Amino acid sequence: MSTKTAARSNSPVVLGIPFDANSSFLPGAAGAPPLIREAFRCDSSNLWAESGVDLGKEGVFADAGDLPLAASDAFAQIQNAVGDLLDNSHRPVCLGGDHSITEPIVRAFGARFKDLTIVHFDAHPDLYDELQGNRHSHACPFARIMEDGLAKRLVQVGIRTMNGHQREQAERFGVEVIGMQDLPALDRLKKIASPTYVSFDMDVLDPAFAPGISHREPGGMSVREAISHLHALAGPIVGADIVEYNPQQDVSQLTAMVGAKILKEILGKMIRG
Ligand code: MN
Ligand code: MN
Repeated sequence: MSTKTAARSNSPVVLGIPFDANSSFLPGAAGAPPLIREAFRCDSSNLWAESGVDLGKEGVFADAGDLPLAASDAFAQIQNAVGDLLDNSHRPVCLGGDHSITEPIVRAFGARFKDLTIVHFDAHPDLYDELQGNRHSHACPFARIMEDGLAKRLVQVGIRTMNGHQREQAERFGVEVIGMQDLPALDRLKKIASPTYVSFDMDVLDPAFAPGISHREPGGMSVREAISHLHALAGPIVGADIVEYNPQQDVSQLTAMVGAKILKEILGKMIRG
């Protein structure tokens, strides 16, 4: 499938990335994209974002389907597909997949944006230099991104698993860490004016709200807190990802519906500006 779409210039384009080979604990996130789409279109709700945008209106965003990944070189394929969308003046919204996909996605952004700010929602800082011998683990993407200078700022929200190694990494890279205990942080997010990439790991949410994840870390955000912090973002959102939904861990498609809600609010925010 080509990532070329008939979408309007500057419109968000959803791209599924069914990839979980870099999960350190449980596979399953590769199965997420079609289930998030199904929940998004479910007749139990409507397609309006809370910001007043009708996502059911023809042409407000497009869906490029799922990226067909070959067995090898998945990262190069992801980077190229996202780069194609950017070169066609689209704003990619990728559905993972595990969080390792953010590394090649942001490589495509880093080559095209000089002053990118990443706002990263997660229970985990994902700053390991390596995990289980894998430097491209889903526990490592933000170490690679900051090492290679692909973003000007990295602001992490909802962190609650910081350890000694990752604290050192955060200091080394100048990461702005907003821990769970520091919330709410609406005013800090309202001050970010530069082009913003949103990376949303579903496990930032409390597992009571979103059990369908690989690493259940209690003490997380409510869905409402997450939406409030997304709505607080002030800079233009140039791209986003929603990662780590693991259908094999889900209960009654509850987490798929939460992922779809987060997708609606991110798209609404991108379209309304
Ligand atoms: Mn993560
Ligand atoms: Mn996480």
